[in-house]
Amino acid sequence: MNEKEPLPLVADLQRALAPDRVRVSPLELELYARDASIIAGRAEVVCFPLTTAEVQAAVRVCRKHGRPFVPRGSGTGLAGGATPIGDPVVIVTTKMTRILEVDADERVAWVEPGVLNLDLSRAVAHLGLHYAPDPSSQQSCSIGGNVATNSGGPHCLLYGVTSAHVLAIEVVLPDGSVAMLGGLDPEPAGYDLRGAFVGSEGTMGIATRIAVRLTPLPPAVRTLLLDFTSVDDAAATVSGIIAAGLVPAALEMMDAEITRAVEAFVHAGFPEDAAAVLLVEVDGLAAGVDAAASVVAEVGRAHGARTVRVAADEAERALLWKGRKSAFGAIARIAPNYYLHDAVVPRTRLVEVMRAVYDIARRHDLVMMNVFHAGDGNLHPLIVFDRRADGVLERVMAAGEEIIQACVAAGGVLSGEHGIGLEKRDYMPLIFSADDLDAQARLREAFDPDGVANPEKVLPAGSRCGDLQKIPEGAWI
Ligand SMILES: Cc1cc2nc3c(=O)[nH]c(=O)nc-3n(C[C@H](O)[C@H](O)[C@H](O)COP(=O)(O)OP(=O)(O)OC[C@H]3O[C@@H](n4cnc5c(N)ncnc54)[C@H](O)[C@@H]3O)c2cc1C
Repeated sequence: MNEKEPLPLVADLQRALAPDRVRVSPLELELYARDASIIAGRAEVVCFPLTTAEVQAAVRVCRKHGRPFVPRGSGTGLAGGATPIGDPVVIVTTKMTRILEVDADERVAWVEPGVLNLDLSRAVAHLGLHYAPDPSSQQSCSIGGNVATNSGGPHCLLYGVTSAHVLAIEVVLPDGSVAMLGGLDPEPAGYDLRGAFVGSEGTMGIATRIAVRLTPLPPAVRTLLLDFTSVDDAAATVSGIIAAGLVPAALEMMDAEITRAVEAFVHAGFPEDAAAVLLVEVDGLAAGVDAAASVVAEVGRAHGARTVRVAADEAERALLWKGRKSAFGAIARIAPNYYLHDAVVPRTRLVEVMRAVYDIARRHDLVMMNVFHAGDGNLHPLIVFDRRADGVLERVMAAGEEIIQACVAAGGVLSGEHGIGLEKRDYMPLIFSADDLDAQARLREAFDPDGVANPEKVLPAGSRCGDLQKIPEGAWI
């Protein structure tokens, strides 16, 4: 495009925002063509508003030109939620990074949507507070993205996922109006539109200000690493810990392949010959955490744990968590591509589902690793591959479909935390009836009657008429 004569859409956006915050260069369009999933699309324009008024102005320009828009935070989503389909305007919140207000007495913070998850916890740590939902991507994902995907994280086993920590959301609706959903009252009156918006993946508008609950830092923490010579024993320990009446703050599992990859990357002392390790954290009052740590150790030993290592200090604890939270980075040393699945199965069926998942990988001749929030039954089978290899993508996709089918057959659901996006949308009929899907479609239409907000995501195309299609035109893998 001739930069001196921008398209009318681009010229209007430049007037509404600022010329340097509206981008159309091929490189930038390419960068914003995908999130962290394996599905790509194509953006028409990418823009970076600074305020609610600018988001509103950008949405109004989209409406004027009949263009769809895609809200985007940090682009760490793993379900193709921020992948642009239908040549939309991508509205990015990464310049809306102010923590607007912190009320330590009420334990509430108002933030802009581009604030990074970990930055909020760091900013309130001196008050003895933190923001409890902690996706493993917390150094880079935005709170707006967390709200839109209803993110989980290792410590959500005890503290609950994002929806339990969001009080109010200011939203620019798809018609360009601004509404406040929810409120700071303990029991806001009217319909729970805040609840409807959390997890709506950009299909109901753009969150521009969010009031989140802050949680006191626990007075004492114990972090344990248990290792096993069989995946089955580790999985049985997970159920055993919960059956013993304990809900740890976090209960994470890594299998042999990922443990070796992490150890080679982080050097945290993870046993490289273990078939699986559990990273377990208990928190609360000092006397309580020691008792809880003893229960974890006992249950682990009863299920064949080879060693039980208790982090001696904060530095050792931080190193163990660095290992867990760097797991996806560590696999970049093994192969250039990965496809991370996200499904939930009943904890009691973890052992059989994991066996099925390994079997699927073997049959498709694929390298599979597992690192996941085991306490929630939230499996993350990770297929590691090199997309340049002949036929590998077909095998990856076929194995992925079988993994989803196996999890659903075991009584599981499609996503524990990453959302549905494009990746899982055509699997929705596996767990929802036509009437269920119709009710969801009608709710979405109440927010977005013209279908301009993040089109093609979450609900299967044709879900209102039973005519399903696969990945839409314009998307590619
Ligand atoms: C290494 C790694 C580890 C991860 N670990 C976890 C984990 O432990 N738990 C977990 O839940 N997820 C995890 N994820 C996935 C991802 O980080 C989360 O889904 C996160 O919430 C996405 O935030 P984001 O800012 O990157 O959103 P994006 O990827 O930019 O967008 C995600 C979705 O939210 C919508 N959206 C973004 N901002 C807004 C807004 N302001 N208003 C309305 N809609 C919006 C987008 O349209 C899209 O549908 C991980 C990802 C990676 C790469």
